[in-house]
Amino acid sequence: MINERRNFLKALSAAPLLSGISLTTQASTGLNQKKVVVVGGGFAGATAARYLRRWSDCEVLLIEPNASYHSCILSNLVLTGDRSLDAITFNYTNLETKFGVKVIEDSVSRVDSANQIIYLSSDTEELNPINYDKLILAPGVAFKYPNWSIDFDTIPHAWKAGPQIEMLKQEIDNLADDDTMVIRVPSGAYRCPPGPYERTCAIADYLDRKGRAVSIKLIDPNDTLSGANVIANVFSGQFGDGNRYPNVEYIAADDIAEISMDKDITLNNGDSFNAQAINYIPDQQAPDIVRFTLHPDSNQAWASVNPLTYASTSGEVVNAANIHVIGDSQATLQPKAGHIANAEAKICADAIIRDFLGMAPYANPMTNSACFTPVNHEEASWISAVYRFDGNQVVTEKVGNSPEANMENYQMMFDWANNLFNDSFG
Ligand SMILES: Cc1cc2nc3c(=O)[nH]c(=O)nc-3n(C[C@H](O)[C@H](O)[C@H](O)COP(=O)(O)OP(=O)(O)OC[C@H]3O[C@@H](n4cnc5c(N)ncnc54)[C@H](O)[C@@H]3O)c2cc1C
Repeated sequence: MINERRNFLKALSAAPLLSGISLTTQASTGLNQKKVVVVGGGFAGATAARYLRRWSDCEVLLIEPNASYHSCILSNLVLTGDRSLDAITFNYTNLETKFGVKVIEDSVSRVDSANQIIYLSSDTEELNPINYDKLILAPGVAFKYPNWSIDFDTIPHAWKAGPQIEMLKQEIDNLADDDTMVIRVPSGAYRCPPGPYERTCAIADYLDRKGRAVSIKLIDPNDTLSGANVIANVFSGQFGDGNRYPNVEYIAADDIAEISMDKDITLNNGDSFNAQAINYIPDQQAPDIVRFTLHPDSNQAWASVNPLTYASTSGEVVNAANIHVIGDSQATLQPKAGHIANAEAKICADAIIRDFLGMAPYANPMTNSACFTPVNHEEASWISAVYRFDGNQVVTEKVGNSPEANMENYQMMFDWANNLFNDSFG
């Protein structure tokens, strides 16, 4: 088990696949004339920009609307005051100064794939097109909100970190004895599969520490914890009567039918109740910039890609193969998670450089995913998975979880996270 855990940490710093190709050789092949535009500076986009410049001399433009990036990883600890938001906030200075990435603080409003150009949101008249040889789309996830009377700005999902996390923390801190809190697990594919259960443990533990008798309803359309899977293994014995958090009621295979303006919640099974804090985590899909660009006709939720290169395989637009999609927006079976987004980014960067050099992509890429999940303020579990290419698609090689939650894992979680943060933004 110790070896397996160490492998998570080692996997991030794997030797660059292209380290053998000198910059002189690259210059002679015209690589320094190539331009890659990366959209989104999260774990996927920042890593891709960083490694493209680390491994090659091509021009890299990173477009990101925010000057700072707030990591979702470890953000549940901000809800409980065990971590500050500052400690999980990063900027793009290192990418600029150490690696020569050109960072533009803006968002991309439209991609013209036929002409290989993008437009920035600030360029409302579309007078300043930016051309690219390769485009990497890494904008993460967008939320699908139901058509209810509640103003969703008043009930934070906190599934993107930053102000939403601070808002949810405030709601939790305002809870009094006998209040009710609701946490909703999204249905379908969503960012960080164990995350809602991890968040429930963190909040229940925090309220216990504060001596608050709050009842928490965890509503799960997927019924994940009743199945045989790594998430169920990690969270067994946590929720319900006789378990670590008896005040958490796990409501499986049901969903919220409506939330009223007064925060009255009705479930599909007809039950209704009022909640003083609501963490409704909506269903998710790739942002419009991905779906409208690559799947304009079908408008499919996530972008189809070739897992050897992460090039789009959309048949709906021209030049799709010069547009790559990495991280949460892409549609392979890999989980939507930061650790694996970092791995996908390196495969994509490597494939792009090889393509510029007239080389075929590496034929046997493997990726891995790790998630350390605190179950209280001093113990954590972990889940890991390894994926490989079977000649046709990404398949799961191996999935596992820690045999128990313990304090050693809790400490290891910070080493793992710091390693990932450095490898993406450092
Ligand atoms: C509570 C929680 C806990 C988590 N824990 C873990 C964990 O333990 N392990 C793990 O591996 N993962 C974890 N994750 C998941 C992880 O945070 C995400 O999977 C990861 O952030 C995905 O990276 P990304 O780069 O694809 O997207 P993001 O990190 O969301 O980055 C996307 C970026 O694109 C930018 N953007 C969007 N649209 C545009 C546009 N049009 N133009 C320019 N820029 C744009 C956004 O501003 C953003 O900065 C957790 C998530 C949550 C919510």
